[in-house]
Amino acid sequence: MSEYDAIIIGAGHNGLTTANYLALGGLRVCVLERRAVVGGAAVTAEFHPGYRNSTFSYVVSLLRPEVIKDLNLAHYGYEPIPLHNALYIDSSGDYLLLTDDDQRNANEFNKFSATDYAAYRAFEQTVEQVGALLSKQWLNEPPKLGDQGVSDLISVMKLGVDVFKLDAEARWRLMQFFVGAPETIIDRWFESAKVKAMVAAHIMPANYAPLSQPGASLAMLHHAVGEIKGQAGAWGIVKGGMGSITRAMAQSARAKGVDIRTDAAVRRIEVAGGRVTGVTLETDEFIAAPIIAANTDPKRTLLDLLGDAHLPSEFARDIRAFRQESASLRMNVALSALPEFEALPSAGQIADYHRASITMTEGAEHLNQAFYSAKRGEPAAPPLIEVIIPSVLDPDLTDKSGHHVMSLLCKYMPYSLSGGRSWDEEKANVVDGIVNYVERFIPRFRDILVGYECFTPLDLERTLGMTRGDICHGRLEPDQLFNMRPHPEAAQYAMPVGGLYLCGSGAHPGGGVTGAPGHNAAKRILKDQ
Ligand SMILES: Cc1cc2nc3c(=O)[nH]c(=O)nc-3n(C[C@H](O)[C@H](O)[C@H](O)COP(=O)(O)OP(=O)(O)OC[C@H]3O[C@@H](n4cnc5c(N)ncnc54)[C@H](O)[C@@H]3O)c2cc1C
Repeated sequence: MSEYDAIIIGAGHNGLTTANYLALGGLRVCVLERRAVVGGAAVTAEFHPGYRNSTFSYVVSLLRPEVIKDLNLAHYGYEPIPLHNALYIDSSGDYLLLTDDDQRNANEFNKFSATDYAAYRAFEQTVEQVGALLSKQWLNEPPKLGDQGVSDLISVMKLGVDVFKLDAEARWRLMQFFVGAPETIIDRWFESAKVKAMVAAHIMPANYAPLSQPGASLAMLHHAVGEIKGQAGAWGIVKGGMGSITRAMAQSARAKGVDIRTDAAVRRIEVAGGRVTGVTLETDEFIAAPIIAANTDPKRTLLDLLGDAHLPSEFARDIRAFRQESASLRMNVALSALPEFEALPSAGQIADYHRASITMTEGAEHLNQAFYSAKRGEPAAPPLIEVIIPSVLDPDLTDKSGHHVMSLLCKYMPYSLSGGRSWDEEKANVVDGIVNYVERFIPRFRDILVGYECFTPLDLERTLGMTRGDICHGRLEPDQLFNMRPHPEAAQYAMPVGGLYLCGSGAHPGGGVTGAPGHNAAKRILKDQ
């Protein structure tokens, strides 16, 4: 008899979530993590002496309240801190700063248009309505696309009723988000180029697509279903960085008897008679279990660890065609002083924008150019950059008072560079270009920069095992979501080999720090017992 009922490959936040729920269901569980630390993309580290930050993912909203409660994460130290404001700024110094003050927000929009604020409010309301509908699907197993049973029919009917309950305007918008192109939606709602620039950046959060791509704004809805402390749509940081989430998840799992092994890379999933029997580690150690839940992405799990010889050939072909790439580059920056934007002087004092999620974008056309540049294998220059300064809200991230850390997510950075160039050779140039660009907003940036770390898409793949550096384990596009993620025959977490399940972001509902695929996979596994 095996020592374990289930093995989880990978201690990302979803793997840890699955481990917790399986242990709650009475299973003996072992988690095997390749890295020396647990957490996957949700970790905190000291990246420069005296400066700590969330290394990869950096803001929270999507983590399901049910998971927070069931795993008792607050007890183990999870504490979100809301970001109240949002700044959209271009290098000419034009900006929109959105705060909790409605009149102030109206004044910001009125700088560029007399009608766009009203349009924005209506747009946000629709997004909230549709987001609320989608969020109800997050902790449910999607109904099967084919070979349906009664439970599939019931869940399709429930979804139909939810859509039916929307008002006609919201239903129309829902359809537009699914099949319309972001640029059409933006042009329909807004008139000012500056406001359109803001909405374009907002509507395309983690996806790798141009504004003309139908369905590309679905990724925005995916990012609109979250909450912090009951406040719908709110985003924030986590005290101590995102690693506090996964540390809490690991502690919660250990308290339930889960064994978590780090430096334990799985080389192969073993199969006999059409069922998994266990895994072999890179050290040649074999660990037996009748159930394996893979927190690794679909291609890594099914093509590398399992091997397509164990899969139906058409299924394997479809998994090879599953699109994984998000063209993201991530930097953590150590600063010896508060970064001050030239357009928003604050005399060295912390201002509203320092507590904001900040987007540096030159406009809607910039986004398109950045995308087409990346498609040619050229890193976008400049990229679109999302920035936060978490040390403003969590001063313990730096040893010295008045020093800061900054997170930069730079978008439209392709995994494959043109002319066979390697990221290892190009990285320094690209970082230099990013620093030059940020200096156009923060003139003293180079003077106060004391250190940084940078993860190119290749580094993300090497460090986290994310195929082609896709931060969501697969693009969030209509044909790769819901009951098609990662494949219509594997969207209920069970893979076509007996005992093998997918519990990471490559399963419904997709990427982000959500805990949802981990939760749903565990429910499926327990149901199959
Ligand atoms: C740079 C970046 C920025 C992001 N920003 C945000 C953000 O701000 N907010 C947000 O909500 N989301 C963000 N995301 C997305 C989000 O972090 C991820 O989608 C999510 O954390 C993935 O979680 P997961 O548990 O599904 O998988 P992962 O976190 O990828 O975990 C998979 C685990 O499997 C391990 N593993 C891989 N191969 C093996 C093997 N052979 N054997 C054993 N273990 C293995 C890996 O080391 C890893 O620990 C970001 C992601 C990245 C990379």
